[in-house]
Amino acid sequence: MTDLTDLTLSETLKGLAEKAFSSVEVTTAYLKKMEEKRHLNAYITETPEVALKMAEESDNRRANGQAGKLEGIPMAIKDMFCTKGIRTTAASRILSNFIPPFESTTTQKLWDAGAVCLGKTNTDEFAMGSSTITSYFGVTKNPHDETRVPGGSSGGSAAAVAAHMCAGATGTETGGSIRHPASFCQVSGFKPTYGRCSRYGVIAYASSLDEPGVLGRSIEDCARMIEVMMGHDPKDSTSSHRDVPAFHTMLDKTIKGMKIGIPKEYTELVPDNWEKAIQFLKDEGAQLVDIDMPHTEEAGMVYYVVSQGEATTNLARYDGVRYGVREEGKTLDEMYMNTRMAGFGQEVRNRMILGTFFTSAKGYNDYFVPAQKMRSLIKQDFDRAFEKVDVLFSPAVPIKPFTIEEAKHGAAKGRFNDNYLMPSCLTGVPAGCANNGLQVIGRMWDDATVLKVLDVVEMMK
Ligand code: GLN
Repeated sequence: MTDLTDLTLSETLKGLAEKAFSSVEVTTAYLKKMEEKRHLNAYITETPEVALKMAEESDNRRANGQAGKLEGIPMAIKDMFCTKGIRTTAASRILSNFIPPFESTTTQKLWDAGAVCLGKTNTDEFAMGSSTITSYFGVTKNPHDETRVPGGSSGGSAAAVAAHMCAGATGTETGGSIRHPASFCQVSGFKPTYGRCSRYGVIAYASSLDEPGVLGRSIEDCARMIEVMMGHDPKDSTSSHRDVPAFHTMLDKTIKGMKIGIPKEYTELVPDNWEKAIQFLKDEGAQLVDIDMPHTEEAGMVYYVVSQGEATTNLARYDGVRYGVREEGKTLDEMYMNTRMAGFGQEVRNRMILGTFFTSAKGYNDYFVPAQKMRSLIKQDFDRAFEKVDVLFSPAVPIKPFTIEEAKHGAAKGRFNDNYLMPSCLTGVPAGCANNGLQVIGRMWDDATVLKVLDVVEMMK
């Protein structure tokens, strides 16, 4: 028999439906792969007992004719999603002993659809970074070259997908954290329109930017997972009431007659397959249109001011009082200080200090307000572009994965690291990365078209 971990999520669903194998068998194969590839450090916490129990229950449901949309599919969950009874750390020492008493809405939806939890994947601490280098649990290795980083922050999920240590995985984006590691690990990643997925139970980094999403071996796999995770949630006031279409049935393999915009600011540096991709889109019958996005360059600065300002507020809750790690002190203030000094890593502390400044009386007027204004201009770039075209097309990350050594010396702060990713986070539009590193960005709520074009992009040989 072929190795069950070599099947895509979609193929696995088919095999399960045809009773070619059971969920317990697939899950066992993935658990074995996780053991073999443990040195990659893709998972922070593995949950084999939970997985086998869930797989058994899934097989029973299927036998009773009650199969859900992801029935029996073994998945990995980024350690930013709270999972009831399973340790959830955000890759931080401060949460290294945290066992949530509740489940995030999006993971609950996955389990309700029949998915099986294999464990929790590594990330940069509180999703702050592009390499997993800031994780308290150590860096994840890129499965394609173990001297290199997997990208981040959802690097554990991307590596787990690439190394076949799961059939699919969740990720989160605040400023590119799904598409970045998807590009570095050559897997597919999708971030839906802001508000499509509930943020309830997802550890907050920057609330106006945070978005749950998915990573898979193909866009079809991503579509199947994300359509399960989306939908209104009364527990998140920013979650949308819009209907959720069955995206995976809308991948009709054609872009004939579509208008695809190429933003000139997103092509300053391009990867090797760029020219070929442009020709491919033309051959598929799309009309390519040159687009100007004049405020792209500013997106990085705006992102850091806004995200750090919001992070300071969100991370104030980790005070050692109710949950998480506590470092004692002689007074209450000293306990707070000791806890936060020992609990947070350097990068997180740096961002909170800057964020405190950006939201202080002086910093607010000098930085936070101008950043919000610039954020509106960036949004106008998109509004204008989408008057002319259906989607935008570009590389996701035009550079190759840097080495772990380079990451330690600040490679993740390089100019071309996440320039093409951040503007779409600041504006909330849907965006994804195909498993060949190419990116598609769409109009607000038009997640379906983004997935459809990405699916075609993955047909490029
Ligand atoms: N790389 C960016 C950062 O360092 C984005 C992170 C994210 O999207 N969570 O913050």
